[in-house]
Amino acid sequence: MELPQFTIGVGDRFAHQAKAQLAACICAAERGLSISPVWNKSNREHLIVGSEPSATRTAADAAVRASNWTLPYFLDADHINLTNVDRFLDPCDFFTIDVADAIGKPPEAGAAGAFASKHPEFERASAIAAAQKYLFATQEAGKIYRKIAAAKGEGNFVTEVSMDETDSPQTPAELGVILAAIADEKIPIQTIAPKFTGRFNKGVDYVGDVAQFEKEFSDDVAAIAQAVARYGLPRNLKLSVHSGSDKFSIYASIHRVLQKTGAGVHLKTAGTTWLEELIGLAESGGEALDLSKEVYAEAYAHREELCAPYAAVIDIDASRLPSPSEVNGWSSEQYTSALRHDQSNPAFNPSVRQLLHVGYKVAAHMGDRYTSLLKSCEAAIARNVTSNLYDRHIVPVFFGA
Ligand SMILES: [Zn+2]
Repeated sequence: MELPQFTIGVGDRFAHQAKAQLAACICAAERGLSISPVWNKSNREHLIVGSEPSATRTAADAAVRASNWTLPYFLDADHINLTNVDRFLDPCDFFTIDVADAIGKPPEAGAAGAFASKHPEFERASAIAAAQKYLFATQEAGKIYRKIAAAKGEGNFVTEVSMDETDSPQTPAELGVILAAIADEKIPIQTIAPKFTGRFNKGVDYVGDVAQFEKEFSDDVAAIAQAVARYGLPRNLKLSVHSGSDKFSIYASIHRVLQKTGAGVHLKTAGTTWLEELIGLAESGGEALDLSKEVYAEAYAHREELCAPYAAVIDIDASRLPSPSEVNGWSSEQYTSALRHDQSNPAFNPSVRQLLHVGYKVAAHMGDRYTSLLKSCEAAIARNVTSNLYDRHIVPVFFGA
């Protein structure tokens, strides 16, 4: 099973927007570019929403049938490990093996030295240093890969290895070492998600040095090309950009590097579709606008609990959060202006956006009341979901805006 050159990871927390998300890929196809959707949902999201991976499969398959989509599409078991992979084995055909927690754990005595001897292409001291940091993690990835392969059969799924949810970024040189170690583990990886320099907070723009990012991204692409040639890793191996949604200031850099090198990319969007659901509800007014305000009030009241699992990937300025009573007085326009990711709008409020981003648990608790409004406001929501993915993400990254 081969992952195409251009893919976009789409999250769908409540499994109601697969068709609207697919519509963005259909727009791209009509403009001459094949971009395959990958529906990703992490174990953390399933736990918070109380959903099963099989529901994502049902929603994706239904959308593909209803839209006569004939290009490939995938279902990503996002950020899985040995302890939680089981329920993803059947419905998923893409596995993001997350070994970030294993980074820095020392390998067996002598293993780093043996690795360096096996790989004279690296300068010995730096190979040993990188192996001390990453060898154990790649061995862990090997264990998880072999468990999935035993269940699904080799070649029947796409493998990604992710190291993004950690504190320090990996340099392109370290990426070279990591790929050598992954090749030694015989993991046929098709995408790798390093942690890049700068901040990739959920639902908001990139914070960091854009020129440095572009150089690093370009050097990572070169490290991948070299590893493919040297170790026989899959030829379509490419970078996966996690929390890739809304990183508007680096999209031109990504596009330039893709153009220059012919490389592919997997842009994994975070839960921005859920925010488009809130925008569509707020736009619809009446009871739907009331519910979107109620979500804010509840998220505000439980902000510490909601933010905790995402502490490393959000930066909320509490002084910029309006009180729920103020939000209760908002019009549709005020609510959507604060939330929609339009940096040219002075009313855009990144703190509100990030709080609501992690606030999907509130909607999950509303159950049917929430999902029945998703159905009755489907047209407004779908318009926002599709346009967000296509205009704000696909166009600048894949076509170049
Ligand atoms: Zn990630």
